[in-house]
Amino acid sequence: MIEKARILIVEDEVAIRTGLVDVFVFHGYEVDYADHGEEGLRKALSGLYDLILLDVMLPGINGFEICNQIRQQDRQQAVIMLTARTSDEDIVEGLTLGADDYVAKPFSVTQLVLRVQAVLRRSGIGERQQRQISLINGAVIDTENLCIEGTDGLFTRREIDVLQYLNRQSGRPVSREELLTKVWGYASDMDIETRTVDIHIAKLRRKIEVDPADPQVILTVRGAGYRLLVEDP
Ligand code: CA
Repeated sequence: MIEKARILIVEDEVAIRTGLVDVFVFHGYEVDYADHGEEGLRKALSGLYDLILLDVMLPGINGFEICNQIRQQDRQQAVIMLTARTSDEDIVEGLTLGADDYVAKPFSVTQLVLRVQAVLRRSGIGERQQRQISLINGAVIDTENLCIEGTDGLFTRREIDVLQYLNRQSGRPVSREELLTKVWGYASDMDIETRTVDIHIAKLRRKIEVDPADPQVILTVRGAGYRLLVEDP
């Protein structure tokens, strides 16, 4: 299955938003959008998107605040800020808050698509996997040899992918839907079988928890999903 990159467009101006949706659908992306700050923030924090195009001036919560909250949750989320304001202070503020790039309106659609492609390539590099994950219980996962260091406990590639994805979220609870989307590559609108995730988590717990019935490393957060506890980096 070829996975389409998923883009969220947060933009309140109808003409610009619909134009952007058309352009990115045309270029083969899966596109979703929000037309005000609250909805944009909620979707941006869902973890379901590979890249977020974020307008600055929005009704409700502005784009800088949304970017700030995205960064507090996920250092790896790709974000490009869009704005009509082009002063140096705005650019500095956007980049300080952690946007990957900054595109001033009016922009050329071709340029914007190229910038999006570049940021997606970089974030792919940014996601280059860590070789080791040191769990809170002292076990060290060797992600290349798919084992726990010093033992012959073996993992499947998918199990390691789940651990690496959880590890990149810095202890944030991750929903089953997000794991299916990001690790398995399901489209976010598919009628998805979340039990697949639970089965993989159960298998992982049997391999890494001292007592799989009382997990201390992969925690279940009611209503939110799973979170991974690692040693302080
Ligand atoms: Ca706007």
